[in-house]
Amino acid sequence: MKPLEQWLAQAPRVPLGTWPTPIHRLARIERQLGCEGVYIKRDDMTGLGLGGNKVRSLEFILADALAQRADTIFAAGPQQSNLCMLVASACAKLGLRCVLVCNGDPPPTETGNLLLNRLLGAEVHFIGHTGEPECIVRDVRAARVNELELECSASGGHPYAVKNGATTGHGALGYANAVLELCAQCGAENIALRHIFAPGGNGGVAAGLVYGNALLGFPFEVHIISVEDDAATLTANIANTIAQTVEITGLAFEYEVPRACRVIDAYRGGGWGCNTQESEAMVLQFARMEGVFVENIYTSKVLVGMLDLLRSGAVSGPSCFIHTGGTGSLFSQYEHKAPEA
Ligand SMILES: *Cc1c(COP(=O)(O)O)cnc(C)c1O
Repeated sequence: MKPLEQWLAQAPRVPLGTWPTPIHRLARIERQLGCEGVYIKRDDMTGLGLGGNKVRSLEFILADALAQRADTIFAAGPQQSNLCMLVASACAKLGLRCVLVCNGDPPPTETGNLLLNRLLGAEVHFIGHTGEPECIVRDVRAARVNELELECSASGGHPYAVKNGATTGHGALGYANAVLELCAQCGAENIALRHIFAPGGNGGVAAGLVYGNALLGFPFEVHIISVEDDAATLTANIANTIAQTVEITGLAFEYEVPRACRVIDAYRGGGWGCNTQESEAMVLQFARMEGVFVENIYTSKVLVGMLDLLRSGAVSGPSCFIHTGGTGSLFSQYEHKAPEA
């Protein structure tokens, strides 16, 4: 057993998801590309709420919360935050109070993840329209969470805030563990996987994959497709998060991030939430070819990148798209415009 495997086996973890998530081939995509061995790992089917990557992170983050005797969990994000929906789902399952802080004003009709948060019984606070860019709005949200945490403590509660969109040292353990899961799954199902592709937002998924892959002896080549920042910024965020994870596990990461994975920023277009022509088309193409939903912010850009690199021959060999979910937000992404037929 590798030290990471040993460490993870004893790590505090709250069971929230259904593991392993399925892996299967994308037969029609393979035919279209003219290459064999194109896989998808269904982390959109993690078994809680509408599924998604953050179930993996929350298993470790909420274990930390419970160790601190928390009874009220705070999370913050944009209105369609997948994290908020999954925190609300996890709190329901664990019998904890959930308080969410979201951007903007309450919309006249709640759709997508906002609707799900309501169905899940979460308490939602809106910070109002500040007109500022997301990098400033996130500080406004965090300040509001702080205030609400103080109120919670003052009335005898035990608050715990999920920080930085779950991109934390504990959160990254989820995807370090996913590498282990994928290795076992490839062994059991006789899959000779070489490349894995995942999105980079804040970099929590990426940090976990890169750290886990390195500590397990590089079973895969990790490709991170940025959906938000330029490669240098995302790389720095990944390194930062890995440093936090090392503090927790005590297992050193002795590599430079750019040498332990490929961080690719060529497919992000205008950045977070800004569709590209290709990513918009991919939402429809993928649904219609494979019967699987991806959405515009995270997952479609990764598929565009992976398929482009396979098509051009820049990457070759069995490859797997890690589908990180986001299905709840899809319902809100066509409010103003129906997709082309
Ligand atoms: C949050 C999220 C990600 C990105 O995660 P980071 O750890 O912030 O890079 C990817 N896909 C979906 C669907 C998400 O909700």
